[in-house]
Amino acid sequence: MTRERIGIFGGTFNPVHSGHIRAAEEVRKKAGLDRILFVPSFIPPHKKTVSIAEPHHRLKMVELALENYPHLTVSSIEIDAGGKSYSIITLGKIKERHPGARLFFILGIDAFLDIETWKEYERLLDSCYFIVMSRPGNELSEGENVLGGKYEGRMLKIAEDMSITEEMCDQFSIFLLSIDALNISSTEIRQKSQRGESISGLVPEPVESHIKKNGLYLKPQKKEKMTEKKSSKFSFQYLPREVQISIQAAQDKKSEDLTVLDLRRLTSFTDYFIITHGRSSRQNAAITDHIEAELKKENIRPLHIEGRERGEWILMDYGFFIVHIFSSQARDYYSLEKLWRDAARMNC
Ligand code: ATP
Ligand code: MG
Repeated sequence: MTRERIGIFGGTFNPVHSGHIRAAEEVRKKAGLDRILFVPSFIPPHKKTVSIAEPHHRLKMVELALENYPHLTVSSIEIDAGGKSYSIITLGKIKERHPGARLFFILGIDAFLDIETWKEYERLLDSCYFIVMSRPGNELSEGENVLGGKYEGRMLKIAEDMSITEEMCDQFSIFLLSIDALNISSTEIRQKSQRGESISGLVPEPVESHIKKNGLYLKPQKKEKMTEKKSSKFSFQYLPREVQISIQAAQDKKSEDLTVLDLRRLTSFTDYFIITHGRSSRQNAAITDHIEAELKKENIRPLHIEGRERGEWILMDYGFFIVHIFSSQARDYYSLEKLWRDAARMNC
């Protein structure tokens, strides 16, 4: 009996476009995949994108785009997990859910040429099959030289009239597949939207409506006007788990007026601030201890903690997020929320 073949198609999908769908459908047919999971990432770890739509919008757009494709489905696995999205982790989770299946990681040649920058890429390459698709801008044959040609022996170029057989799967693990790719990129769509140009034909119609209705990818001033305060808010469920645990722990100790600032677009030194205050330095110490203990249970430890002794302004630095626990006077005095007035925020 042949094993079920599942494709995993990861990306930022900011937004998903007709090039993605065309590519997935063609790969599915040529590689004999039973289905393909589109997996939008939560935070792309090696992207410097500034105008990245919120995860729930990107997820929704993929869902809308795939409505009429029964073999293509969206998976929220990375968005649910929050934090940085790493393919090696995602693959492990998908493997657990589909123990008998052959898993094929699908990506364009442009992405494959960057594989060296991926977390544990060698383990990833050893853990599943890869299908590398052609895409305008790069020659598919460039793939053979990836990592100094180290993987060339495991690669097979699939000719037009060939399909991927079970025997091939025993012998090779990276398949280079030439497809009739559309010359479309999400970057082009974002740029056109910003300039007020039409994107029709580049994305499926329901995706186009979603972008318009929600004012995604507009120039910043326009966006503010259109979405007013709405765009500057976000909800708990899309925060990384570590941030959620900290919020919960602070609230367990009755911390007051807790605010989360999303700083990802504004600075590179951290992604989130959690700001709160207690009524006494004793309470502040208790909040700090409890957050530290709850995160420790998950094996997450702070880089450092400052100000615990005085309790006026305790700073817990966890790298991609920082917790500030103030006395109420110090909070007013330092006014971090005003200082970072452009940050999207959530008040708990
Ligand atoms: P951006 O311009 O923001 O990088 P993108 O169009 O490259 O967006 P991604 O979300 O980065 O889209 O791509 C996800 C995956 O889809 C990558 O593996 C990429 O190579 C592949 N891909 C994207 N567009 C195409 C296309 N037109 N044809 C084939 N593959 C594509
Ligand atoms: Mg890309």
